[in-house]
Amino acid sequence: MSGYPDARFLTSANRPDQFVADQGAEVAFAGRSNAGKSSAINAILGRRLAHTSKTPGRTRLMNFFQLSPGERLVDLPGYGFARVPAGTTEEWRRLLEAYFETRRSLRGLFLAVDARRTPGELDLRMLEWCRGLGRPVHVVLAKADKLNRELAARALTSSREACGPDVTLQLFSARTGDGVVDARARLRDMLGGQRSE
Ligand code: GDP
Repeated sequence: MSGYPDARFLTSANRPDQFVADQGAEVAFAGRSNAGKSSAINAILGRRLAHTSKTPGRTRLMNFFQLSPGERLVDLPGYGFARVPAGTTEEWRRLLEAYFETRRSLRGLFLAVDARRTPGELDLRMLEWCRGLGRPVHVVLAKADKLNRELAARALTSSREACGPDVTLQLFSARTGDGVVDARARLRDMLGGQRSE
């Protein structure tokens, strides 16, 4: 399956009143800063729309992308970066809570986790928010090219244990393209499988 050649940036938001109109279907993409989230989004879309960064913690905005009419991907601000100004974590929590509590078009969550780490407290909080809404969660173990086969298998097992049986997981590498096809299929499923090829 191809990517989303017509995908385009819609808007950024740091307040709920800046969110795109709550219509159609939307999948959110979350991850700790530097987990590989932006690279994963770009690889899945087949377009370089999300900004990758060598300075983690820089982006505090939610970015809305249109994939096709009525279908969106929302790039949530990265979290877990130590050197953020006081109050930013609280702002992040309020923004994300407002999003998860009100967003009717939310169909599911993609969670990017560095394959060399196990999901942390904030990853699990995102997962719980989504689970509480009855929405599916898909964990993308990013930068899997940095692990050999044995370590990659172990990463899958330990992350599965941490996240619980209702979550789907996969290995992913934006660098080699491994897992991109599976991630696109999962995204399409969450959005409702209505996208025309
Ligand atoms: P984000 O902060 O979660 O959006 O992470 P980025 O996508 O900006 O990536 C953070 C760093 O990890 C960058 O230096 C990327 O080049 C690197 N990176 C991202 N994806 C991969 C991957 O699949 N393989 C490898 N080896 N490095 C990656």
